[in-house]
Amino acid sequence: MRHSILIGSAQQILGFALLVCMAQAPAFAETNYTISLANPDQHLVEVQILLPEGVAQRELQLPVWNALYQVRDFAQYVNWVRARDGAGRELTVRGLDKSRWQIAGAQGGAVVDYQIFVDSPGPFGAQLNSHHAFFNLAQVLMYPVDARREPMVVRFSHVPEGWHVATPLASMPEGRFSAESYDRLVDSPVEIGLFQELDFDEGGGHYRVVVDAEPGDYNMEKIAAMLRKIVAAAASWMGDRPFSTYMFLYHFPRGPAGGGMEHAYSTAIAVNADVLAKAPEVLASVTAHEFFHLWNVKRIRPQTLEPVDYMRENYTRALWFSEGCTSTAADIIQLRGGLLDERHFEQELASGIGELERRPAHLTQSAEESSLDAWLEGDAYYRRPQRSISYYNKGELLGITLDLAVREASHGQASLREVFQWMNQNYAKKGRFFSDSEGVREAAEAVSHADLGWFFAKYVAGTEEIPWNDFFRTVGVRVVEGKNTAPDAGFVASRNFDGPMTVAAVTAGSEAEHAGLQAGDTVLEINGKTAGQESSQEIARLIPGDTITVKIHARRGGDRELKWKVGSRDEVSYDLKDVESITAEQLARRTAWLKGEAQIPQEALSH
Ligand SMILES: [Zn+2]
Repeated sequence: MRHSILIGSAQQILGFALLVCMAQAPAFAETNYTISLANPDQHLVEVQILLPEGVAQRELQLPVWNALYQVRDFAQYVNWVRARDGAGRELTVRGLDKSRWQIAGAQGGAVVDYQIFVDSPGPFGAQLNSHHAFFNLAQVLMYPVDARREPMVVRFSHVPEGWHVATPLASMPEGRFSAESYDRLVDSPVEIGLFQELDFDEGGGHYRVVVDAEPGDYNMEKIAAMLRKIVAAAASWMGDRPFSTYMFLYHFPRGPAGGGMEHAYSTAIAVNADVLAKAPEVLASVTAHEFFHLWNVKRIRPQTLEPVDYMRENYTRALWFSEGCTSTAADIIQLRGGLLDERHFEQELASGIGELERRPAHLTQSAEESSLDAWLEGDAYYRRPQRSISYYNKGELLGITLDLAVREASHGQASLREVFQWMNQNYAKKGRFFSDSEGVREAAEAVSHADLGWFFAKYVAGTEEIPWNDFFRTVGVRVVEGKNTAPDAGFVASRNFDGPMTVAAVTAGSEAEHAGLQAGDTVLEINGKTAGQESSQEIARLIPGDTITVKIHARRGGDRELKWKVGSRDEVSYDLKDVESITAEQLARRTAWLKGEAQIPQEALSH
């Protein structure tokens, strides 16, 4: 997935028919869901579950987390739960904990109904309104604890006139969709509404593009042209295409939005319409990242994420790889697809280095610890630069440096590409999961025939400063540090994925402090613009001496408008430049690096 959390300021019903059948002999063996869209204005979804006959006591559970590595307790939105048997007699429903219900007397099958409020927008949410429905089904559907791995069928009722359903789920007659298990069911986002759709084939794969946005805000042909480049570059880089059909689901809202969620056969992505218009490369970048996830994390998967524990956190040390190195691969895919050039790639790396180096926590929190602590990202204090680093940021840089280390250790015969292909062959294709960082090390050492324990000990498990120039020298590049006078607004604010922007810290003695800003205040507007994804750029554009106007909802209550003069501070800036006299060897390595390939074609990896 990808979501920006850090804002450095200073930086009707078939059920009845089935019910009749069931009273005689159950005509189905699988769990059947009907999701009613009858109440879009109130954001209320009614779900009916038909449980086939079986044991008398059944337990139903609603996940506490999904998509984001954050416990969100979706059960808080369940208004009521009821159950009856095939003859219409009421069955006892007993809550076992905040997310689990027990149904008694269900041996002949049961009909369970419940109502749930869904109004959480974006790729990590579930929402029903008068415009559309978008569901991450794990936020909506309870599962029978004893049938999680059994086939499931879902249908939608009371769908408003003219709306269509788009989902990667297998479609069945009568508007039903099926999945082999609950895990597969909830790995399949659903969009229902008045969207545009385009299909194309590329390299033997079939691709569906579904866009729900204002027609004037995007160009479907341009999006399809970009997607062709991404899917072709990714499949050729991996030498693999483990699907026949894949779906891209896009939203381009006018309001605050941003992020993407990966699935095994699809991705759901939201980009703000203005950002899309001004910086279309953002769409390519997030799309390449989410698409590559179909390998890395969905199929090349750490053991610590399996089986998914819907009741509590799955702790993993591997997000630096599963997320960060997915960004590294996305860079390579964009370079290979002609969507990113060398200069912009190097600028992005330099800005990533700056982002890591400027967070004091890079000396206290390792990439593995940042992965374990992902579950704290909802908390503003945790997001402070003194407390945490981002496993996206450091992980992407570890992907770059691991690539360079593998090239050096293998004398150019292997690269990050071979590491991913090795993991694909030896884990994903064999239905095995890898053991977090140890599994990555195993792959990197196998393709480079060298000991890379030092890399993992120092930079993955450890917090040693990364000696950038030692790595980049091998491709004739050096990191140049400069001094920059940066605007300093005197506070640090950040936001959770779709939450409000919260002030995490106010610099002691700053103008911001004198103006009355306090940690814990909610930032509503900065210079007249709604606080959101673009606020960090807004602040970066300020010039020391400018007046900043910040509208807040104070922690102690009340909305206020504060104004103060922006200060300045010296910060180290980073840039990537060519070394003074580049050798033929460095140049050859760099050419291969920018293609994401090994220098000397290796014999096909032993499969
Ligand atoms: Zn991701």
